Amino acid sequence: MKNKTTSIALSLLFLILAPVIVFLLYELNTTDENEKLLQSSYRSQLSTIIYSVNQFSLDIAYSWGREMENYYQAKSGAKAAPRFTGLYSCVKGVLTVDSTLDKENIIYSSALPVSRDIAFVSQMSEAAKVRVRKLLNYQKSGYQKVEAWGHPKNDSLFYYILPVNPVDETPKIVIIVLDRKQYIRQVLRPQLDRTAGSFFIFEIFNETTQQSLYATSPVAIKDLENVEKLWLLPDCKMGIKLRTGAVSEFVGKRTVTVLVIFGSLLVLVCLGGFFAIRSVRKELMVAQMKADFVANISHEFRTPLSLISMFAETLELGRARTEEKKNEYYAIIYGEAQRLSKLVNSILNFSHMESGKRAFHFKEFSLQDLVNDIIRAYQFHAQQKGFTFTVQLPETPLMVNADYDALSESVINLIDNGMKYSTDVKKITISAGVKQSFVFIAVEDAGIGIAAGEKKKIFEKFYRVSTGNVHTVKGSGIGLSIVDHVISAHGGKIEVESEPGKGSIFRLLLKKI
Ligand code: ADP
Repeated sequence: MKNKTTSIALSLLFLILAPVIVFLLYELNTTDENEKLLQSSYRSQLSTIIYSVNQFSLDIAYSWGREMENYYQAKSGAKAAPRFTGLYSCVKGVLTVDSTLDKENIIYSSALPVSRDIAFVSQMSEAAKVRVRKLLNYQKSGYQKVEAWGHPKNDSLFYYILPVNPVDETPKIVIIVLDRKQYIRQVLRPQLDRTAGSFFIFEIFNETTQQSLYATSPVAIKDLENVEKLWLLPDCKMGIKLRTGAVSEFVGKRTVTVLVIFGSLLVLVCLGGFFAIRSVRKELMVAQMKADFVANISHEFRTPLSLISMFAETLELGRARTEEKKNEYYAIIYGEAQRLSKLVNSILNFSHMESGKRAFHFKEFSLQDLVNDIIRAYQFHAQQKGFTFTVQLPETPLMVNADYDALSESVINLIDNGMKYSTDVKKITISAGVKQSFVFIAVEDAGIGIAAGEKKKIFEKFYRVSTGNVHTVKGSGIGLSIVDHVISAHGGKIEVESEPGKGSIFRLLLKKI
């Protein structure tokens, strides 16, 4: 039977777990793909934003270039500095040089000593000059290109190297000296703040020193998700982060939610499966126990029946010579008939109990009277089997309101069991007493005892302990379930104290009156 339930349990478990696990694996796999898809589209979006910021600063540079061209094209004698020098305080100076890179002209100078920057032009390395000339060549061929160079001595400044080509004038290189931080705040900040909105955080930082130059909201550089170079801000990078957390965090959270939901579902399904398997197992056990019961009960019937028929036949054939022998055989026949009727009664009681039809007739009596009656009727039978009864009863009557027959049947059941499950020490002690708000009858034996794990199960119908000498002892497995039913119907309880090999005490507790 164990094998049967195990295979049912395994197939049920497989049926339940297989689809759940397959779905879970599928879900985890697609989560990973979704995450990749989301990450890549998110990254390209971030790159586009950085690109637009770069493009914006390029547009500004070109617009300043156009203003410089206008400046050179203006015919008036005393030329005013172009508008952008007044508009942007980040512009610290504007100088121009011609294609030979040696004529220097200061168009505008703020408080900062731009003369130093003139020296920068004159001290320009050959490589730098080549780059500048290249820009001029681009310009001549109609393609405007601008470069941003870091200041060789002052990290807070940088240059725009911007070729311009005014009509009627020789092409020139415009060098705009800019303050890095002010440039970011005046030129880029409005654009950054607008684009960031409530979704993004932007930060511009110095690539070499890893120092933040501006952030739309406080954020650590290491937390930025997409970091790219700014074309027109030397040594500077711009990074972006989602205000509400990274995409991987979203996907991670979703994965966790999916896992938690599936985990809980799995637990629920397993619990359901566990209970289903348990009840199937129980049903199978009951079916098995019923089959055992039929076998046992048939056996229980066969022994007294064969004894009755054997001794009745002996008597009928006149083989019992003496009166003494005859009386002995009559006694055996009577005893076995009693045993049969007891068996039939207990089966009838059990079936009444099962169908809920068993009625109890309550009356008041003392437990001492009940015990004494049982001892009187039972002592002879017990002594014949080699048992000694010890009876311990208090003097004060222990009154109960109970069904006399049902209670005495229960105590007899316990005494029977005590005798059945005793081996060498054939001693039964029957006592009665008071315990808290209960009075009790206890039956104690020095028999095989009951293991702790079996103490509850022995009250289940048809249950018989499958170890010890129980297989050699006849029984139906319904005795204790009848006792349990009777005591429950009286609002009482049963206590069992037992240790394997040492014996057992069964205590029936009933309400005091
Ligand atoms: P049975 O007809 O098998 O005795 P019961 O319902 O009376 O059925 O008892 C159930 C099982 O409890 C028994 O099969 C036996 O294993 C165990 N049991 C009952 N009483 C005792 C006892 N006094 N000592 C040891 N085991 C007992």
